[in-house]
Amino acid sequence: MKRLISWLCVLALVLACAPASLAEGQATPKYVFMFIGDGMGNPQVTATQYYLGSIENPDSPYPVPANLSFTDFPYLGMVTTYDASSFCPDSASTATSMATGEKTLSGVINYDVTLTTPFKLITEYAREAGKKIGVISSVSVDHATPAAYYAKQPSRNDYYEIAVQGITGDTVDFLAGGGFKKPTGANRDQTDILELAREYGWIITESNEEVRSLSAESGRVLAVNPVLQDSKAIHYEIDRERLAAQGEDILSLADFVSAGIRVLDNENGFFLMCEGGKIDWAGHANDAATSIHETMALSDAVQVAVDFAAEHPDETLIIVTADHETGGMTIGFATTAYDTHFTYLTRQTISFTDFDGVIASHRDKQATFDEGLAAVETYYGLTTVPDQALTLTEGDVESLRAAWDESMKPAEERENGAQEQLLYGGYEPFSMAVSHIMNNKAGLSYTSYAHTGLQIPVYAMGVGAERFSGLYDNTDIFSRTMEVMGLSK
Ligand SMILES: [Zn+2]
Repeated sequence: MKRLISWLCVLALVLACAPASLAEGQATPKYVFMFIGDGMGNPQVTATQYYLGSIENPDSPYPVPANLSFTDFPYLGMVTTYDASSFCPDSASTATSMATGEKTLSGVINYDVTLTTPFKLITEYAREAGKKIGVISSVSVDHATPAAYYAKQPSRNDYYEIAVQGITGDTVDFLAGGGFKKPTGANRDQTDILELAREYGWIITESNEEVRSLSAESGRVLAVNPVLQDSKAIHYEIDRERLAAQGEDILSLADFVSAGIRVLDNENGFFLMCEGGKIDWAGHANDAATSIHETMALSDAVQVAVDFAAEHPDETLIIVTADHETGGMTIGFATTAYDTHFTYLTRQTISFTDFDGVIASHRDKQATFDEGLAAVETYYGLTTVPDQALTLTEGDVESLRAAWDESMKPAEERENGAQEQLLYGGYEPFSMAVSHIMNNKAGLSYTSYAHTGLQIPVYAMGVGAERFSGLYDNTDIFSRTMEVMGLSK
């Protein structure tokens, strides 16, 4: 009995000395990259792999998928994403889960379900351990996902309050990508967020060159892309590429990751969260080609981290995941059955957002349906010329005409019943009709204009990456990252 007791004492001592899961001497990553493709489920990743494989191997008699920068990472896990409101969660609650290990209601950032108790963030723990913190997003930096890595707010819609926490708090050293949705508050009567940032000692970049020349000596940096598109977000990659071909120089998400690494690098390392936020927006709008280009932009951003990891192989952990799937995208459609035509999507050179702009200018001048069809041919390759790969069927033309008639009306005169919601989801009818036709000809489709409850992949490489294998919950992304980093609550 005595012997058993002394063994138990030894065992208790061992357990007390070693953190439960981090063995003595086990390496912890100095550099941690957390990439979140908002709305990037398996279908979005797979469609991008098949799209790239199809265009890179045009003469192959059999399907060849391409790898993205992260699809061949050595460790793959799957997570459930439900929140305290729904199996189909939102970005606020899911980012809260990943940043704090806690479930909460949709719309809530880092508060509990009673909206009274704030949670402590992984970035706060990492900060206490001496790491610098970077937060990058392709959408506005006060949006739910980036916000969850530096702010605590019962409502994700309190954009100004969120931004103020980021700027006046001491969690973030590098805040970059998109701009601010409400820079002077909901009623436009607050101190401008940039003024506040200057007051708090942030270095604010104002040109591409300044972003490109950022370094470890730059200090605390707020780097908003000098050129923004909709809702203070970076351009959709498909539009950025079209504009680049016309000679416009617009910084990409990858450019900000590269700048972030330069700013944050220090002897204690860093934790850098980067969100590809517009995969989600393209999913809501059922725009498959735009979604694929957004996923490619995130893959390019991850590649910057992969290149960095090659120089720091025993010190870097890279995690790539998503918060939830958006749109219920699938590969395969009723009329194409077992066929897919991913190369058709190369004919699309515009996002639904920029095409909405084209439609608006047509509405302003009360253009004809034929002029609308000409725009569709220019930007999507869909044509009324017979016997082409992208020839519009009679049914296609009919649905385009119905959508055109709606789109040419001022918004307040449009039908908005159940049928219109099903067809257009509240978006510009003509854009939606074109996207659905384009998707379906390529052999793709969507089931929703909202988020879905699909499980989400987690790709990991580097120090501690093996801990991200298996099927678990999104809250465990927090606990496993904490554990790998040697941090405890
Ligand atoms: Zn969304």
